[in-house]
Amino acid sequence: MFRLQTTTALRNISVLSLKASRNYSTIPLSVKIDLPNGITYDQPTGLFIDGKFVPSRQHKTFEVINPSTEEEILHIYEAREDDVEIAVEAAQKAFDSTWSTADPEFRGRVLYKLADLIERDSEILAGIESLDNGKSLFCAKYDVNLVAKYIRSCAGWADKVYGRIIETGDSHFNYSKREPIGVCGQIIPWNFPLLMWSWKIGPALATGNTVVLKPAEATPLSALYVSKLVQEAGIPAGVVNIIPGFGKIVGERIATHQKIKKVAFTGSTATGRHIMKAAAESNLKKVTLELGGKSPNIVFNDADIKQTVQSLITGIFFNSGEICCAGSRIYVQDGVYDEVLKAFKEASESLKIGNPFEEGVFQGAQTSQMQVDKILQYVDIGKAEGATLIAGGERLNQKGYFIRPTIFADVKEDSRIVKEEIFGPVVTVSKFSTVDEAVKLANDSSYGLAAGIHTQDLNKAVDVSNRIKAGTVWINTYNDFHQQVPFGGYGESGIGREMGADALDNYTQVKGVRIAINKKTV
Ligand code: NAP
Ligand code: MG
Repeated sequence: MFRLQTTTALRNISVLSLKASRNYSTIPLSVKIDLPNGITYDQPTGLFIDGKFVPSRQHKTFEVINPSTEEEILHIYEAREDDVEIAVEAAQKAFDSTWSTADPEFRGRVLYKLADLIERDSEILAGIESLDNGKSLFCAKYDVNLVAKYIRSCAGWADKVYGRIIETGDSHFNYSKREPIGVCGQIIPWNFPLLMWSWKIGPALATGNTVVLKPAEATPLSALYVSKLVQEAGIPAGVVNIIPGFGKIVGERIATHQKIKKVAFTGSTATGRHIMKAAAESNLKKVTLELGGKSPNIVFNDADIKQTVQSLITGIFFNSGEICCAGSRIYVQDGVYDEVLKAFKEASESLKIGNPFEEGVFQGAQTSQMQVDKILQYVDIGKAEGATLIAGGERLNQKGYFIRPTIFADVKEDSRIVKEEIFGPVVTVSKFSTVDEAVKLANDSSYGLAAGIHTQDLNKAVDVSNRIKAGTVWINTYNDFHQQVPFGGYGESGIGREMGADALDNYTQVKGVRIAINKKTV
């Protein structure tokens, strides 16, 4: 049922996208933008191909909307299939000529420089994210901080990609080495535009690959701005190519391209499934996917209630709930259920929501009208399913895509609001009695991205985390990322890991070399 609806939603986006696209004879390649936090900066509007900002071949453009005001920010150039071809050629040339064969020290050096430049421009970048995505400046600053740290961490990995020597007796000498894959296509979503850029670009570049990346049409601005920093850092032309455009056109071309040897995607499970098929039917390019989730956040009787309530809030309302690993199914043990629900309701109602640039705002705008519609539709579904609305459930009475933090209790475990990813500030709260029951409820999902466990008993924490089927488990914390800790999904939440040493595996392939030794006796 849900899959069908998602497909319909995808179809609608593409129709909307094509409508929003228009022909201009020309638009400037850079536009001055005044951010609401008082900063003025130059926003590139062209595609970034072969080290330069250029108009798209067909001179099509599309509009970028500010979700907090519902008004147009500007138009940028829209890539089409012919632009993908040029970007892939540039990436292939850079891969063959310099990047993949360079001393890794060089790759590390320019990535360190890039991390420094991101830190230098962190206020601008955070402002761009809030303007374009609608997230609060508080959330945007968290992202940019992690982006700089992650790119720096990748710089450090660049000269630590090791092979092995393999002993098979004295007749042979054997070794394995890790080699880059080639031109990588990367398709990212709109919920963490810059963070997803870094999770894709960082490990790909550190291991000697070159990239053609499509940002989401809803949030293309930060990937273009940061391309100026890629230039300034001295990353050679063609290593990074950024081509904003629509999923159904540019994304599709990336997924089916014969010369693209790997595709990395973050977004919906429906589109991930489609990309995997496209990869299989074209050149069997390698695929990594970071998809949706419906993650459990479990509270035991012995939890520190104050700290736990904070984690429940961060778990679901951080980034306006538009986060794949959101703790969107809360399970509370019966001994503290009433106390936790009351404290959680109060905390959620005291959150400041609204203008992302305003001091103290925690939750900004949802990213699009489409998301608002989807979220409010789920609020109606929850009510129709007989759940009790504890808090929120409505839009703010003002312009902009703002939705109040929403809590449902008394939910049935097989209801749609418990089973399906809502991708907004909507959470369900259920009661359980025993550890076994909590584990069973937590694992009753086709997803497996993350889970939260709140208890002061270390034995229980480790035991439950061992039994949870998820790629990330947070204990006494939630949505707590570190650049060295791997992130990714079990089950239908994805394939591959991002961040940490594990991310490098996504971007290297192993070559085994066996040399026969001709033993001489004199
Ligand atoms: P989506 O379709 O998965 O979009 C993610 C990216 O894939 C965007 O860059 C999109 O391009 C691109 N894309 C779309 N169709 C494509 C195709 N046929 N081939 C290649 N690339 C394609 O997600 P959405 O439609 O924006 O959002 C729908 C739902 O997905 C959300 O409500 C949420 O549940 C989930 N979602 C999850 C994540 C996550 O982090 N796991 C992120 C975003 C959304 P365009 O945007 O330019 O069309
Ligand atoms: Mg936007």
